[in-house]
Amino acid sequence: MKLAITPIRKMNEAAIGYLLRLAVANGYQYLYRLVDKRQVNKVLRCQPTHHHLIDSLLPSQAPDLSPTSNPLFKTTRQLQAKICLSCIKHEGYIAEEVQNPHITHCSQHQQVLIDYCTQCHHSLVWDISLLQGRCTHCHAELTANRNLNIEVLTQTQVADCLVAAHFIKNPQTTLINPNQFAVDSHYQMQIIQGFELLSNTQMMQDWSQQSVQRSASAMPTNMSQISIRLLMSLLQHQWPSLENIGLDGSTSKYSASVDVKPLKVQLTLALELLGANREQLNQLIELQLVEKQGNARLSRHSIIDLAPLLRELNTYSCIPNMQAITHHQQMLLHNDTTLTDILIAAKNGRLGIGYCANKNLASSIYCEPQQLQAFALNHFKNKHQHIISMDKAVHITGCSLKTLQLLRKAGRLRQPKWFRSGLDNYCLRDDVVSIRKLVETGQLDFDF
Ligand SMILES: [Zn+2]
Ligand SMILES: [Zn+2]
Repeated sequence: MKLAITPIRKMNEAAIGYLLRLAVANGYQYLYRLVDKRQVNKVLRCQPTHHHLIDSLLPSQAPDLSPTSNPLFKTTRQLQAKICLSCIKHEGYIAEEVQNPHITHCSQHQQVLIDYCTQCHHSLVWDISLLQGRCTHCHAELTANRNLNIEVLTQTQVADCLVAAHFIKNPQTTLINPNQFAVDSHYQMQIIQGFELLSNTQMMQDWSQQSVQRSASAMPTNMSQISIRLLMSLLQHQWPSLENIGLDGSTSKYSASVDVKPLKVQLTLALELLGANREQLNQLIELQLVEKQGNARLSRHSIIDLAPLLRELNTYSCIPNMQAITHHQQMLLHNDTTLTDILIAAKNGRLGIGYCANKNLASSIYCEPQQLQAFALNHFKNKHQHIISMDKAVHITGCSLKTLQLLRKAGRLRQPKWFRSGLDNYCLRDDVVSIRKLVETGQLDFDF
């Protein structure tokens, strides 16, 4: 390919805009007669096209276009076309900033950027008719939609609006898989919808209520609120509409849905919702009570599906005399018995439990008190664990940390021998059991 004319690239001109001008200057009617689709995609991403002439005319590196990050994409570079009509009309070029997904108005002309045609409603694509201010689909003259009022927002606010729009489209979002680039179409419309949700308290309340109601009735309240919590954690600006969203789990939940759909969350959230540590989570995975995506070992990037557990629990019904296990928290701590231990015992048929969706997982699990106590005592007796943490020792003995430290000084609560110095947070289980016996029989003396 030979190009007779190579115009000079303007300051801050978008690479794709320059490519369009290059095509026009050389008499092309359509961009794709000059370069193929793959090459255009490279130019949009500021990557080499391996077309020697074009690469020599374009910048070889992509500067970050926005100071604001966005959880939806890794690179703040928008691939979908949007333009300032005044820049084209008066300056004859397309500025690089239009590829910033967090910009809605031209910084020079303060005019709203256009990304779709008000005549045929198609999204614009990168082609030569943009340089004439015409639609790339129907060739009508492009104009801004006067009925849509898009506010002037900071880049952080725009990022939040895009995130909110994602949640409007996908109300059950529990996980974000970011794209490499900003690829969605109809950005301006999404920003308007996202802004509406974030700036209107009533709408936000309705949305969060609907989000909870769409979740299965078998879900504890805090699990039905994952989408709301995730949305709130991703927002960077303080939106007043979020101030009154109750997330304490005390609001009663009404939901019509019976099916438990996949409930995939990131590791940290999974651990929090299950009240488990990694080791316990691994036990639950082994028993297929929860599912781990992929074969890699557990890491903070792991994705965990909690739905199998909820489906299993939903088959246990509560019978009279059962109480929520949270009523017996002290007793369970005293016997080093965790929620995971109870779930595993139920699965293996060693403990009868009931299930009734409540505030959180622990308060949704019911058990006959005497049976629970017998199980916990037995569990503690059989636990083959020689070393336990001081925190656990506090719960098991009922002594304060200070008392335990005194006992340690007196040599009555030994540290595991092979522990290197500095790790004084552990102690031998046998010593803890002896101390507990003394406490229970009122024989613990402090003559030391
Ligand atoms: Zn402009
Ligand atoms: Zn059109």
